This record gives sequence, C-alpha cells and structure tokens, in this order.
Amino acid sequence: MRKFNEELLKFIDASPTPFHAVGQMAHALEEKGFQKLDECEMWKLEDGKKYYVTRNDSSIIAFTYPPSVEKGYTIVGAHTDSPHLRLKPNPVKKSAGTIRLGVEPYGGVLLNPWFDRDLSLAGRIVYLDAEGVRREKLIDLKRPIGILSSLAIHLDREANTSRSINAQSDILPMIACGEEFDFESWILEEAGESGGKLLAHELSFYDVQKGSFLGIHEEFITSARLDNLLSCYVGFQALIESKTPMMIACMDHEEVGSDSHVGAGGTFLEETLRRIAGDDFTTLMRRSLMVSCDNAHALHPNFSSKHDEEHAPLLNRGVAIKINSNQRYATSSRTMGRFVQCAQSIGVATQTFVTRSDMGCGSTIGPITATRLGVETIDVGVPTLAMHSIRELSGSEDAYGLTRILMNIGHY
Ligand SMILES: [Zn+2]
Repeated sequence: MRKFNEELLKFIDASPTPFHAVGQMAHALEEKGFQKLDECEMWKLEDGKKYYVTRNDSSIIAFTYPPSVEKGYTIVGAHTDSPHLRLKPNPVKKSAGTIRLGVEPYGGVLLNPWFDRDLSLAGRIVYLDAEGVRREKLIDLKRPIGILSSLAIHLDREANTSRSINAQSDILPMIACGEEFDFESWILEEAGESGGKLLAHELSFYDVQKGSFLGIHEEFITSARLDNLLSCYVGFQALIESKTPMMIACMDHEEVGSDSHVGAGGTFLEETLRRIAGDDFTTLMRRSLMVSCDNAHALHPNFSSKHDEEHAPLLNRGVAIKINSNQRYATSSRTMGRFVQCAQSIGVATQTFVTRSDMGCGSTIGPITATRLGVETIDVGVPTLAMHSIRELSGSEDAYGLTRILMNIGHY
C-alpha cells in the first residue's frame, strides 16, 4: 500500500494539467500493452486486445476488448481537471516595479490557500516553428517562477476576520521585477522554441510542492489535485489488474460542468462505446455498470457541523458511497447493493455520504453519464479534506481499498 501511494503521488506530481495527466496515463498504458486508437480512423478491434483513445489530449478512455456478454463493462469514470488559476491570453501587467500575470479562476477554486505558495506554470502552447509550421507542445517549467504574496496584517488589521478576495484584482502572481517583459518570446524560449511565433496557449499555475505522506504514522497523503487525479490513478490501476472486462473514462472539464467536446456531457464516451458495441449498444449499456469515482467530503474535525452525523465519511474508514435522493448522485439501491456486496466479500470497508438536508449538494460525472448512456451508475469516492484547495488531504488507506473493489466488482 505504501508503494501504491508513492506511485499515486508521483503520478500527481507529474500531472500539473489534464494534458500532462493524459500523457502520463497514455504512456503507462502503452507500457502495459494497450494500443492507441485514433478517432479520425476506422477501428478494427480484436478479441483479447487492449486499447486507449484520447480526445484533445485532455480526456482519455481505455478498455479491454471484448466486453463480457453477460455483464458488459465495469466502466470507471473520473475527471482529469482540477480547479486552478489559468493564464489569460494577454496576461502581462506592469505595476509597482513588478511584472504580474493575469489569471482567470478555472472551476471552484478555494482561493485563500493559493497565497504565499511557490508557483510554476504548465500547459499547452500552439505556435509556428522557425519554418512556419504550426505545432503544439506541452510545457512544464517545473521551477517556482511566480507567487501571490499576501497583504501583510499590519496593512489590514481585519485580515483574520473579514478579508475577502477579489478574483480580478487580488490574485495576479508576480513573476519578475522591472518594466519590460515580452511574454511571447519568454514562453517560447522556455519551451525551447525561440524564433517561433506564439499563436495560442492554455497555461495554468500550480504549486511546486510535491505530494507527501503526513501524520505521525503517515496516516494521510497530501497533494494538489487529489480531486480527481487520485481517482484517475485508482481506475488505471484497477484496469491493469482486473480479470473482468473493464473500461476507464477520465474526462476533462468536470470542474466547469462537463459540457464540452471532451467533457462527460459531450459525445466522447458515448461515441467510443457505440464504436465498440455497434448494434449492441443498448444491450451493452443495460448490462454494464458505471462506477463514477470522485473524492467525497470527509468529516472535518474543526467543522463537524457541516455534515449529517450518520452520513459523514471518516478518513481511512473506507470508500464513501454518495447518495442523493434528488439525483445529484446517481447511486441506486441496486448499484449500491452490488458495490457493498463486493466490498464486504473482499474485506474493504465502505461508508455512506449524504449532504445535510439544509445544504446544497455538489455533483459529479455520475448523473451526467447515467443520463447520456442509460447505464446503471454508482457514485463513490475517497474521503478527502480541503477539496479545491491548492493542497488537499486524504487517508492513506482508502485509495488502495477503492482499487481493490474496482478490480473485483465485475465478479458480483
Ligand atoms: Zn472532483
């Protein structure tokens, strides 16, 4: 389990953006004998083989072939994106003798923890090379190049009681001193493409601090992007180890509602399944099970009133099954029964999560894919604290437990 978590944290460290996460997974899948499919071509799938396909290099679907005649696929859903600060197209701001870069929050960023962190920059650039050919490149500067410094408490005596954050004016990372800064030539030089011409970029700030074990007995793991790269990694491991037909679908844009050509609300998963199943699409969907994996809010010891007492997941006490009668989560008694039976049979604990009835409920890709595909679905996740912070925390036992359930649920 220690090794499992070490590899999990390494994967997250190497995946500052969805592009990098998909690149990491594609590379690892190829090492395990998965063949890359191209959506622009016809597919000829062969029995006993394993495949993967990407869209926009930010969503990835991988599967064994063929699906089971009786039980279809166990489809594990997760998302590759996490809330962060995204560079604006014309980011340069010069003031107070410094250069700052303008950003737009992506998704529901918890902004406070972004202050006073050593930030780096990663993502995709599109440019013309020295010969005038249009190219794309993934970049990751890896070293700290920016910071959002806090305003000192002496200049704001109310800071601990009433400071709020303006997303337009208060969160521009500072990257240099001086008056002159040519962003385009700087980023091309960082990319090793000096002499090119920048056409467009999708670049994100991230914390350079690496993931870590924490606690006097290493009870916890802390990292950025545990929501939801933890689930991507868990799904990937289960796919590698599973003895029954399985598919993983790790989708971009969940944190902004999933409606895009690569998101769970788009066509990627459905079109992939239709290509696999042909005329048998409906029967495949009716026989399959979707396990939508996304971290669940663990009970916070300092804020325990935010949970319903009987449905408050604890760290290291098992996978949380998410239930919402208004279908913000897609779990039914049938899918939960199957999941719990599997978990109990292999000795993995589960818990249930229901939000307080007087509070709003988040959602995830489970209900979206259930609606699109008509596939029976369960929403589950590893209990996590500080979700959408720049540094999140989970128990060090729960991800491994979830992997074991996903590997085995095809037998139940
Ligand atoms: Zn999530």
